[in-house]
Amino acid sequence: MKPVLVVGAGQLGLMMAAAGARFGIPVDRMDHVTGELVPGTSNLRLTMPLDEIEQRYDIITAELEHLGDTPLLNSVKATKSWQNAAAFEILPTREKQKRMLDELQVATAPWQFLNNQDDLLNAHAELGDKLVVKSIRDGYDGKGQWRPVAGQSHDIPAEAFGGLIAEAMVDFSREVSLVGARFANGEYYFFPLTENYHHEGILRYSLGPAPKTEDLQADAQTMLSKIMEHLDYVGVMAMECFQTEQGLIVNELAPRVHNSGHWTQAGSDYSQFDLHLSALTGAAVPHQPKRFPVTVMLNLIGCEWNAEWQALPGIQCYWYGKERRDKRKLGHINLSASSVEELVAHCEGLMPYLDEEHKGFLAEAVALLNAS
Ligand code: AMP
Repeated sequence: MKPVLVVGAGQLGLMMAAAGARFGIPVDRMDHVTGELVPGTSNLRLTMPLDEIEQRYDIITAELEHLGDTPLLNSVKATKSWQNAAAFEILPTREKQKRMLDELQVATAPWQFLNNQDDLLNAHAELGDKLVVKSIRDGYDGKGQWRPVAGQSHDIPAEAFGGLIAEAMVDFSREVSLVGARFANGEYYFFPLTENYHHEGILRYSLGPAPKTEDLQADAQTMLSKIMEHLDYVGVMAMECFQTEQGLIVNELAPRVHNSGHWTQAGSDYSQFDLHLSALTGAAVPHQPKRFPVTVMLNLIGCEWNAEWQALPGIQCYWYGKERRDKRKLGHINLSASSVEELVAHCEGLMPYLDEEHKGFLAEAVALLNAS
């Protein structure tokens, strides 16, 4: 099998390397800052000249889109192995992403570019009293975001103007995401929509498949296929959406595997990592993988590892081996079951082993399951 290189040495590449082992695909990673090679799931760090990298890896993909503009990354992007150049040119810049969505007539929150304070006043007049202002680059997990209200002082740094967009505040009932892939032969595969809950801009838990999405799945698939086709994209892409009374509105797109697709590791016998590697290496589109009817994914944020988790029923734990920091994603837990009742029981079994914050989020997920 052709070796694959993932740019980025975080958990997404780590899980991709683990998935590769199942198909005999060697997957190595590259630290996008230092350029060091990290083989497979190891934490060894090696150096390799770029021409050797290009020779060894037929496929170079990435686990993050905010790659920066360093000479190293520009050289990687210039190799023949680099995949999905158009998507990595457009999607990491919010302004370009929003413009593309408007051109494709895929619904997204109305927006304006902010060059200066006057543009902000104009944006309030055009888009509403409450706005969400976002950095056009490098914003993720709620970073680089402000919520100015017309007539009130705001905390947007003056030097940020020129690199910001303002979006209308969307009145949504819930957030859902679609994770799917386009294959080189133009075929598509989509997982069912996922329901996602964020706190302080960070994903805390997901339900996969999302309940009550019968009338949304087809629309979401049409939207994401249009985008992937336009970008001539091959591999997994994630589309985060707001559910509104007018239907789905795209919040943002990620040209990669995504945290909201982690439930597929336990909820399906074919995960988003399997899907990305299959599409990139030219494998066949999967035919109806087996799936659990319900899965909850709980992100482990800033907490300590607890070895007892692994022994609990219905549970699958991932721990990324990263240094602990507040608000840092350090791992996740997938809980799957054949029925809502069984899944709620699994969640109740985990509760005593969680800190108050994680208990609170899991209790919210249980309430949603009970209402589904
Ligand atoms: P983002 O970094 O764009 O994913 O935003 C983080 C979170 O902020 C989203 O998951 C939403 O909960 C919220 N958010 C972002 N944009 C908007 C918007 N235009 N209207 C309302 N809420 C938003």
